[in-house]
Amino acid sequence: MSISRFTSVFALSLALCLAVSTPNLSAQNLSAQSAQELASNSAPVAGSSADDGAAPKLEPFDPNLVDKTLDPCNDFYKYACSKWLTANPIPADQIYWSTGSGLQLWNENLLRETLVAASANDSNRNAVHQKIGDYYAACMDETGIEAAGLKPLQLELDRIAALKSKKDITLEIARLHHMFPGAWQYGDNQTDAPFFGFTGQQDYDDASKVVAQIDQGGLSLPNRDYYIKTDDKSKEILQKYHAHIQKMFVLAGESETQAAADATTVIELETGLAQVQMDNITRRDPKNVNNKMTLAQVRELTPSIDWDVYFMAVKAPASEHYIVTSPAFFRGEEKLIKDHSLAQWQTYMRWQAIHLSAPYLNKALLDENFDFFARTLAGAETQRPRWRRCVNAADRDLGDALGQAYVDRAFPPDSRARTIQMVHSIEAALNSDVQSLSWMSPETKQQAIVKLKGIEDKIGYPAHWHDYSSVTITRDSYLNNVGQATSFEFERWVAKIGKPVDRGEWTMTPPTINAYYDPQLNTINFPAGILQPPFFDPSKDDSVNYGAIGMVIGHEIIHGFDDQGRKFDAHGNLRDWWTADDGKQYDERGKCISDEYTQDVPDAGPGVKQNGLLTQGEDTADNGGIHLALNALEASLKQQGKTLEDKGPDGWTYRQRFFLSNAYSWCANVRPEVTRLIVTTDPHSMPVFRIDNVLSNMSEFQQAFGCKPGQKMVRANACRVW
Ligand SMILES: [Zn+2]
Repeated sequence: MSISRFTSVFALSLALCLAVSTPNLSAQNLSAQSAQELASNSAPVAGSSADDGAAPKLEPFDPNLVDKTLDPCNDFYKYACSKWLTANPIPADQIYWSTGSGLQLWNENLLRETLVAASANDSNRNAVHQKIGDYYAACMDETGIEAAGLKPLQLELDRIAALKSKKDITLEIARLHHMFPGAWQYGDNQTDAPFFGFTGQQDYDDASKVVAQIDQGGLSLPNRDYYIKTDDKSKEILQKYHAHIQKMFVLAGESETQAAADATTVIELETGLAQVQMDNITRRDPKNVNNKMTLAQVRELTPSIDWDVYFMAVKAPASEHYIVTSPAFFRGEEKLIKDHSLAQWQTYMRWQAIHLSAPYLNKALLDENFDFFARTLAGAETQRPRWRRCVNAADRDLGDALGQAYVDRAFPPDSRARTIQMVHSIEAALNSDVQSLSWMSPETKQQAIVKLKGIEDKIGYPAHWHDYSSVTITRDSYLNNVGQATSFEFERWVAKIGKPVDRGEWTMTPPTINAYYDPQLNTINFPAGILQPPFFDPSKDDSVNYGAIGMVIGHEIIHGFDDQGRKFDAHGNLRDWWTADDGKQYDERGKCISDEYTQDVPDAGPGVKQNGLLTQGEDTADNGGIHLALNALEASLKQQGKTLEDKGPDGWTYRQRFFLSNAYSWCANVRPEVTRLIVTTDPHSMPVFRIDNVLSNMSEFQQAFGCKPGQKMVRANACRVW
């Protein structure tokens, strides 16, 4: 079961005990100011590109950016955001640009300071400094990478060329799964696992157990629609993909003719796999992917894959049973393996190896990879500075080692304490909401409260850090370092099979600007990276913080009760705890949401439509989350002897400030290419809908800004689940 994130993770395939002690990060400087101080203290790097790494700007809530010439009841997103949007066009190296983007750069700058210090090649470094420092140094060594050319990958290409029969394919799949980040997993936006994905995960029916999960995979484009849809734009992208594969094969040493033929083979095989994949809407229902099989059944499903060899190669412990998310995919894959020659599959594997290693190899491959996956698919004009890409790769591959330093420098205990307090008040708001629901029976209410009380709150960073001592990192080969870190992470997950569940596991690193709900652990997780301005700002009053991070907290809690989350109980088991009638009531309310969000996306070209069935869970979380945050704000103000109607700073009422801060945290310029990507692959709605749809469902908003029936921000058929 994938986790429910707060916002999207764009898999663009661009895509430690660090003792930086900061004892004086005390109550006085825990705030945005301290963040800004740190930012302005960062030494600018040499060079004069637009992004020279100097002092990125954080974007704390600023009520002066409201455009009072516009009508808040017509389009509140524009009212709150248009001045900011005009003043902040998308930088050439970005695919979207939001009020949170400055924070992303700021986090990267901070991490770079740690990495640069650790990369000084001196003998006094501790083991953790050696790993993150040498990882960063190898990534930054463009001269060395250029001189090595394809050499770091050659051994793998030779192995693929030397395969003697289809029986040898299995071992090569295991090798590819060890080499590339994400190459063993199927994620929300990611289909990168060659042939299939494999990992250990909690059992759906008994969340106390970890079992083996075998998932569909095999594609390189963002999802199956890119291969299957037949509209002009989709056909054009597939043609450009063909040209891209051909160029990559040429760069890897093939003739133009051979490369063209091989590109056709790759697309034929990937299209075949896409056709038998389960679509992302069907995958949203956990019942559809909870297919338990015995080992004998798995062997029978896909005899062309030697599962015993694969499990031995990835060191998988025996599993009580195997969850095969999509048996139809594996039946289809079996037929494809049978119907195509070894040579064709060698071409597919050669492509996978070249494609997945491109971000870590020489400039020619890197640029061509960027040209298709970032420029054509996402609209980026230029690559991000190399050091930023290296910082992000280090965060992905050695995240816990780097995360400790980030927490020490950017997340003081007071920020944690204030966040915990907000989480508790928002959980209390859901408790009251559930008690007051007119459509839910007392039996279901009681179960909902049990689940709510069972949620574990995780704030900032994990209680235990991963021990990377078994990972070998050198300054010699970036690609090899990535492979070492990937093997460690892949095998770490596989080794969980048959062992007790580790309730301390996080699936986001501390500097990540995101948050998530995990239905099988029943936890909400807020990395330190998002507990910064504009989302959390200790220098601002409650109305601003509840409107921004408060809504994020409410959103994650509601994920436990959205159309997916409600199917899991307090212990994370897939178990229906709803009465039949309450379940029916829920579905009707959910349908109101999915109908509302099935809509055209303005300014994105003809036929670009958002699918409310894909975004229903996230939309439910957005709608419910803001109600909880507003109720918690009201309770907090009451304790201070104030009401929502009282005027706060800048002349707005606290209620108005709450909604303005909420919208402000979502202001984003989005490239049309990314819009297309979002509506096809992303379970989250477009930013404008995350504000205007939510608020137009809300009488509290309409009251705050005096909106009347008939105006756009007053929806005649308002939806409400939570
Ligand atoms: Zn979410």
